[in-house]
Amino acid sequence: MDGVICLSANNTREQLKELFSVLDLKYDPELFLARCSYCNRELEECQREQAYGKVPDYVWNTAQEFFKCPACGKIYWQGTHVSRMYEHIKDWLNINVTTKRRN
Ligand SMILES: [Zn+2]
Repeated sequence: MDGVICLSANNTREQLKELFSVLDLKYDPELFLARCSYCNRELEECQREQAYGKVPDYVWNTAQEFFKCPACGKIYWQGTHVSRMYEHIKDWLNINVTTKRRN
């Protein structure tokens, strides 16, 4: 079955382990959360002023750094959701990573 991988595990952690093994994948923690979750383009740093009006006021007032997708224009920032994603990644990959500046 070319192009199809049938995973036998029932949970995300074991499925990822299988997938990494079957495809001999490697990961680079520096690249975690570095791409747009909608169109997968690599995020670029965004001037704080460019985020004004495109993010909630509270976010604009409290976030220090913003990132922008060059394709779809979505703005990203370091919010609490980033910490939650890193907790999932640490659990899924059974590694210890620290929160990076991107989300
Ligand atoms: Zn995008």
